[in-house]
Amino acid sequence: MLNADTIAAVATAPGRGGIGVVRVSGKSVSSIALHILGKVPEPRSATLSFFLDECVEPLDQGIALFFPGPNSFTGEDVLELQGHGGPAVLQLVLSRCLKLGARIAEPGEFTQRAYLNDKIDLAQAESVVDLIDAASAEAARSAMRSLKGEFSRLIYELVEAFINLRMLVEATLDFPEEDIDFLEAAGAGEKLNSIKNNISDVLKTARQGSILREGLQVVLIGQPNVGKSSLLNQLAGEEVAIVTSIAGTTRDAIRQQIKIEGVPIHIIDTAGLRETQDQVELIGIERTWHSINQANLAILVIDAAQGLAESDQKILDKLPASLPVVRVFNKIDLQQRVASAESEEQTTDIFLSAKTGEGVSLLHDFLLQTAGWQPSGEGVFMARERHLVALHTAMQHVEHADNCWHQLELLAEELRLAQASLNSITGEFSADDLLGEIFSRFCIGK
Ligand code: GDP
Ligand code: ZN
Repeated sequence: MLNADTIAAVATAPGRGGIGVVRVSGKSVSSIALHILGKVPEPRSATLSFFLDECVEPLDQGIALFFPGPNSFTGEDVLELQGHGGPAVLQLVLSRCLKLGARIAEPGEFTQRAYLNDKIDLAQAESVVDLIDAASAEAARSAMRSLKGEFSRLIYELVEAFINLRMLVEATLDFPEEDIDFLEAAGAGEKLNSIKNNISDVLKTARQGSILREGLQVVLIGQPNVGKSSLLNQLAGEEVAIVTSIAGTTRDAIRQQIKIEGVPIHIIDTAGLRETQDQVELIGIERTWHSINQANLAILVIDAAQGLAESDQKILDKLPASLPVVRVFNKIDLQQRVASAESEEQTTDIFLSAKTGEGVSLLHDFLLQTAGWQPSGEGVFMARERHLVALHTAMQHVEHADNCWHQLELLAEELRLAQASLNSITGEFSADDLLGEIFSRFCIGK
């Protein structure tokens, strides 16, 4: 891999900024540096330089950084040209690199090379995207923990434990006179149990990380003026600035997002769900129903003095039967009622005041609980659905294994499958199509 062709891309976000970075990686880096800078810069130190065109005229002036492989992000020779952050000037510098033999990098290709050259494993590579895309401080922190390898370390420890146990089992298989008593004496049962507990602990933390990434899809229902906006603002608390209407067409479903303790709550507003003949509006309505069918929870806001409106009931009747509903009776301050929460089967009633804030914490806690979030998010690392599935699969094989103590071939096979599933998280022995799938979701320049 160290001899791969040379790739280049603008690594900073599109648009204008104080600084813009062109990143180059591959075997032609020194020769490109020689032409653009007039010399190969001192490794690992900031060099102020002109970036020159083919007539030795400056295209820009900035800082050049040279990281000879293998001690670089990609493991190859890497050059970073930090110039002025304007789209035109960055394109000039990039074009110059391309003329000197680089080609435009594919999305995620720098990170992919880092992975292929063993600088990081697959879970770490994924956390590069998660860190960049993190929409809250908590999400960024947990992505950073994964990038540092904390998640991977737990997986490697589990894999170690599997290798240990499998050696015992395979050894027993090789010596037919040995049997279950031998395994028992060697503590195989306890080893399997401890693996089971460890997978379950990792799953718990990983699930928290996945909640930080995915959040909760919530359907918001209620008449005008019952206090929906006030309630969202109260829930978002300090982070009120994050309450945004995501622009679609005006007739499309209105989506908002707030964060509660870093957990994204995606809100689907049903305000647009009225009866209409308008074709465009109908498309928007259909889209809203599509999102509703994938939601985790519905919040119905009711003015406590007025009770449930007929049109709210109509929407409620059309919701999927499995969707939990929380009915919020708002404006209790006008009724001298105290805040309370009562749950019954699929429905929870919460009495609160979005104006005074009384009882809002009840809804706050209820939402986090529905999301599966445990408020002490200490040590949470970023994880993806793919990781959760792999951990679940490993757990299933371990449980099968535990029923096979009298069929050692089966036991060995189940342990092998469990370990293979864990290996797919960090990318050992991962299929090429999985790699392509993961890296193609990156932006260019990463
Ligand atoms: P929305 O149309 O459902 O989003 O409702 P708003 O949040 O815009 O609130 C409508 C009006 O009701 C505003 O004047 C709010 O100040 C008021 N309001 C909202 N919640 C409360 C509450 O708990 N108590 C009282 N007294 N007024 C409220
Ligand atoms: Zn991105």
